Amino acid sequence: MAYDFDLFVIGAGSGGVRCARIAASHGARVGVAESSHWGGTCVNLGCVPKKLMVQASTYGADVRDSHGFGWDTQPGHHDWVALIAAKDREISRLNGIYVSMLENAGVRLFTGHARLDDAHTLSIGPSTLDPDAAPRRITARRIVIAVGSTPFVPDLPGIEHAITSDQAFHLPRRPERVCIVGGGYIGVEFAGIFAGLGSTVDLVYRPHQPLRGFDADLRAALHEAIDLRGIRQHRGTTPTAIERRADGGFVVTLNHGDPIETDCVFFATGRRPKVAQLGLEEVGVRTVSGGRIVVDRHSQTSVEGIYAIGDVTNRLNLTPVAIAEGHILADHLFADSVREWSFATTPKAVFFSPPASSVGLSEEEAARNGAVDIYLSRFRPMRNTLGGSPQRTVMKLVVDQASQKVVGAHMLGDDAPEIMQGLAIAVTAGLTKQDWDRTIGIHPTSAEEFVTMRTRTRETPHTPA
Ligand code: NDP
Repeated sequence: MAYDFDLFVIGAGSGGVRCARIAASHGARVGVAESSHWGGTCVNLGCVPKKLMVQASTYGADVRDSHGFGWDTQPGHHDWVALIAAKDREISRLNGIYVSMLENAGVRLFTGHARLDDAHTLSIGPSTLDPDAAPRRITARRIVIAVGSTPFVPDLPGIEHAITSDQAFHLPRRPERVCIVGGGYIGVEFAGIFAGLGSTVDLVYRPHQPLRGFDADLRAALHEAIDLRGIRQHRGTTPTAIERRADGGFVVTLNHGDPIETDCVFFATGRRPKVAQLGLEEVGVRTVSGGRIVVDRHSQTSVEGIYAIGDVTNRLNLTPVAIAEGHILADHLFADSVREWSFATTPKAVFFSPPASSVGLSEEEAARNGAVDIYLSRFRPMRNTLGGSPQRTVMKLVVDQASQKVVGAHMLGDDAPEIMQGLAIAVTAGLTKQDWDRTIGIHPTSAEEFVTMRTRTRETPHTPA
């Protein structure tokens, strides 16, 4: 049978765009449908606008710290509306770049909501991006579902009053008081953004420390850093209700502790695959808990010829991972060789100020495989000696005792994500502590500490799960 396309991608986010472009570069006839934002969550409602807002939130501390260096700069007024407008201009520039990248690669673009009719047929109907789009039917030999995820909020009385990250990027004004629920990536990052721009922030989360799953020393360091920023942390706590008051404010009741009075309730309680109205069930694409599409090692779903990549598969929900999955799939389908990536050593970063970043195993994870040597350093970075901030930098290496390979690196401090990107190469390459030790540092930097930690801080015995 002759199909309209060799490959049709549903969703023009990070993973979908990469998959479409690489497949087209291999000579495939490729189409892509997008229902709301070219570039997807990362570009429009995620990483990119978030990073711009984190940047905006750091200048107040810069002004304060500059006094120690002889400046008499005074903090000024921050214009939220100007920030959002500037951010939106940059995002719309990036939207245009995504569209032209796809067009230049020879990919055909469709605006609208795509739905599967069968394993080789799609219907594309109107969507927010193109409400007047005429319905179209398209056939494709292979289909890739790359629709991403959407914020999840738990069901509790008054939850309709809460916003999520989707709205946080477009608030008409900055709330004076914000109550953020969730101690994961988004909760921690937005707590830093709002606090840096002058809001009073309450951060409510269930565990004892933020960032479940990260290394315990990094979590403890982040907890301290959040405190230093004046953010009120409500640990081991969950909200039970949200009530709207006559003055427009809100009261958040907690399972223990005093209720929180606030102007904005922001839930950052995870994301779920965006699988609604895709026709998955009708076509037989298998999903499990929370809508996650089940895929094999080639990203193929339970239906032959239908693939899924990125957050919709809920493997490791990070932009560079979705990009790698899309690239690998396009190579697998249309090229002779497949580029390889090391997913096990995917570096991660949480853009608080100061940021936290990790690559490889936490101490706890590494100890499940065997005894580990721990190298831990806490120091006052040079900027803070004159600047006056009591914030310390924390660095940690986790070394497998038997092989002496550095299996994990963790840092909280200025530029941690920039430093960790370089260290990720060493951890991915499986270099030993001796290799790190014979590397000469760059002086004076914080990063040099990673190659000068000579004395083992402690030994952690093999602790099987
Ligand atoms: P996370 O999974 O990082 O964190 C979710 C938080 O919500 C956790 O603290 C979790 O608590 C809490 N939570 C979940 N359910 C409930 C509930 N019913 N009641 C109270 N608390 C609850 O999700 P985020 O929303 O922060 O971010 C979504 C994803 O987006 C991330 O996992 C990441 O993949 C991606 N992301 C990546 C970024 C980056 O790379 N810098 C930045 C932002 C997002 P508990 O720990 O107890 O489960």
